[in-house]
Amino acid sequence: MWVIPVSTMAKKEAIVIYPAPWVTHHASMVELANLLHIHQPSLYIHILVAAIPSQPLFSASASASSAITFNNLPTVDLHPPTTHLDTLHFDFIRLNIPNLRRSLLTISESYTLNAIIVDFFCSRSAFEVASDLDLPAYCFYTGAAGSLASLLYLPTLHNKFTQSFEDYRDLLVDIPGVPPILSSDMPSPILKRNEMYEIFLDISTCLTHLAGIILNTFEYMEPRAIKAIANGLCVPNSATRPLYCIGSFIANAAAGGGDGVPECLKWLDSQPSKSVVFLCFGSAGFFSMQQLMEIAVGLERSGHRFLWVVRNPPSENRNLGIDEEVDPDLISLLPLAFLDRTKDRGYLLKSWAPQTAVLSHDSIGGFVTHCGWNSVLEAVCAGVPMLAWPLYAEQRYNRVLMVEEMKIALPMEELETGLVCSTEVEKRVKDLMESKEGDWVKERIIAMKNAVRVAVNEGGSSRIAVAELFKSWKQK
Ligand code: UDP
Repeated sequence: MWVIPVSTMAKKEAIVIYPAPWVTHHASMVELANLLHIHQPSLYIHILVAAIPSQPLFSASASASSAITFNNLPTVDLHPPTTHLDTLHFDFIRLNIPNLRRSLLTISESYTLNAIIVDFFCSRSAFEVASDLDLPAYCFYTGAAGSLASLLYLPTLHNKFTQSFEDYRDLLVDIPGVPPILSSDMPSPILKRNEMYEIFLDISTCLTHLAGIILNTFEYMEPRAIKAIANGLCVPNSATRPLYCIGSFIANAAAGGGDGVPECLKWLDSQPSKSVVFLCFGSAGFFSMQQLMEIAVGLERSGHRFLWVVRNPPSENRNLGIDEEVDPDLISLLPLAFLDRTKDRGYLLKSWAPQTAVLSHDSIGGFVTHCGWNSVLEAVCAGVPMLAWPLYAEQRYNRVLMVEEMKIALPMEELETGLVCSTEVEKRVKDLMESKEGDWVKERIIAMKNAVRVAVNEGGSSRIAVAELFKSWKQK
């Protein structure tokens, strides 16, 4: 066992936060650091940054205080050209285990380390390093409690089914705390029994050995899933790890980057209240040219105002994480004269939007989202009803949670080919903005928005969970 050196001098108390090398995960964990700092300003927080050279964690390293510091881990020898992006990330995380261990030892020479909080995807690293160092390790899961339930339950499902989820047609999978899930809606990395699946099985096993799991969600939003996990239903054969539901916290809604107010926000100022549909699909949502055309036609026919973030169609290189982002040529990607015809009620953004600022603008009346968990939370905090259009990762699963369980979204339904046709876009946008069904979703999201405020204020469930988290590592 490696033992953290003990010094007789009083050291400052600190924790270490270790994000996974995806930009949105990194950003979430920086927000987590900011939140913990607000609740305990005397605590020093070291964020360990491990970035894949071709994928810098741009602009995500912003913190509220000098008590939060960023420590870059040394580079590791990674050979990307032939590896698939997802497995490449896990190779990278594994290769960084010695760096993580060395960093913890170095930090502990100057600080009393209370705990380490790692991204869910780094749970294997935490398991190996923290037990060596006798340090409580917590996992921060950047998704919904409902999707965590499926991952915790994976070893049980693994024993129950003999084939890949994708091989079962129309099978409903029962998972504690969530509605029945179609096998094809299970999180995409575990659809097929391959290397990724094995990695997730391993993570699931490691989780049962950690000191606790921290979630960016709150009780009112996911009561059934939270209860099922907390009561041990998802890990029937192991001790239940404590759950800390400390959300919802989101990135600051300032316009972000650059000087002055972005043009799109000025445009929103000139639109009527709750009249604009916002379409934005996360950090990795890309559409084929055909799909872009269908969206454009559907939006135009809906007759509603829109603010749409348009990206270039995907390319082979992007799959390997090689960023070749160039501004999309809107004229060639969209139907002939679309821009002219919609110029009075549509605004197109190339590649990226200041999403949190847009969502909190009064003119936004609906959000077409890829169902990434940060985006869902941002919409909830802004009280914006959603159309759920999943694209990758656990987003199809999230659609089920958002539509059937939380009732904060209407679904966007794709054809078997994956294409969402223009008539579906038109219909769903109208449903959200004009129909009774849309009104129910609006009512529900406003209730959710109010519940977030209650949860994060004095005496609220999330506030209590943060206090319990601090207490837990003190009791080690
Ligand atoms: N985001 C943004 N502008 C964009 C696209 C995304 O600011 O044009 C931000 C969004 O506000 C959210 C994050 O990127 O905080 C996306 O995270 P999410 O979990 O929704 O999806 P992911 O990108 O991880 O799939």
